[in-house]
Amino acid sequence: MSGARKVILPSRYIQGQGVISQLGAHVKQHGSKPFAVGGRTGFVKVKARIQASLLQAGVPLAGYDDTVTECTYAKINELVAKVEELEADILIGCGGGKAVDTAKAVSEKLQLPVISIPTQCATNADQMADAVIFSEDHKFIEDLYLSQAPILVLVDTEVVARAPPRYLVQGMGDALACGFEKPAYAEAQRLKKAPVLATTAALEVNLRCFQTLMTHGIQAKKDVEAGKITDAVEAVVEAIKLQSGFGFGGDGCAAAHAVHNGLTIVPGLVRKHGEIVAFGTLVHMILEKRSMGEIERVMRWCMAIGLPTRLEDLGRLDMSYLPKAAEKACDPKDSMSNMPFDVSPGMVLDAMYEVDRMAKAIQ
Ligand SMILES: [Zn+2]
Repeated sequence: MSGARKVILPSRYIQGQGVISQLGAHVKQHGSKPFAVGGRTGFVKVKARIQASLLQAGVPLAGYDDTVTECTYAKINELVAKVEELEADILIGCGGGKAVDTAKAVSEKLQLPVISIPTQCATNADQMADAVIFSEDHKFIEDLYLSQAPILVLVDTEVVARAPPRYLVQGMGDALACGFEKPAYAEAQRLKKAPVLATTAALEVNLRCFQTLMTHGIQAKKDVEAGKITDAVEAVVEAIKLQSGFGFGGDGCAAAHAVHNGLTIVPGLVRKHGEIVAFGTLVHMILEKRSMGEIERVMRWCMAIGLPTRLEDLGRLDMSYLPKAAEKACDPKDSMSNMPFDVSPGMVLDAMYEVDRMAKAIQ
């Protein structure tokens, strides 16, 4: 028997300027005592607007915690106790990936609905049915898969497009991977006769995400730098926030993220998640033996928006660690195993150098 096609999505996705004002009306449909979870820098940007919308709808905040710095089990358990004590019945996660993931994990433990309100665009955590758990010192612990995605993702472009432009670039770097990783993952699942298969709908949206980035990405970065919220910005925000993770829950990574994870052990690495994933995507394309023309197009796009294409762009790397990074990228527990063919550390190392060589040649 073959596997079942499955898609995991948030119940509602609303994006536009000023949409935070709609929060209260949605909260009211699902609860009466909301509790907000945020990080300090993100939450302060939206706190007044959130409180105003909730008050207007007659469902004021029962409490909030704006001290999330990392999504850890200690923080999750602390918040579970707080939410239970206040008898809050709906959670609102506001901020970047860590705050939103923490809120989602708390909602999972208590089986309460959760709403995501991102304050920047560096991540697509908002709509995903998973939470990435870290230790206090930012070591990856595990991916916690959730029984449901958020009931609402409220993306106020007045907020996310006014965050520093580097966040949008990082988000584009992370989203870039989906046009390659999701099809690879889907093919691997099909070959393995896995119980869960991708839907055509999800794959189409992921490919559309890639096209949107190629078409509007460079303009969107310029517009955000100029303080303008244009159609290009709205298109790219949707690509990052909705399309890049569409339909896979928390799953669907492959070589690009595995290369990212491998590179994190290299001393001297200074780039952020989405930037490293962009480099990993180029490595992914080499591993798949994509045409030089196709790789060059993506590479030039990365260069145009400031995503790394050469090894030296990633930081002052201790190159003696690269073989170890390639080995870590091929850890059987990591997402390299979601490629539809076997990938060895030697192949990854060669592909990293090949990306570097190509980038130097076209620069
Ligand atoms: Zn990512």
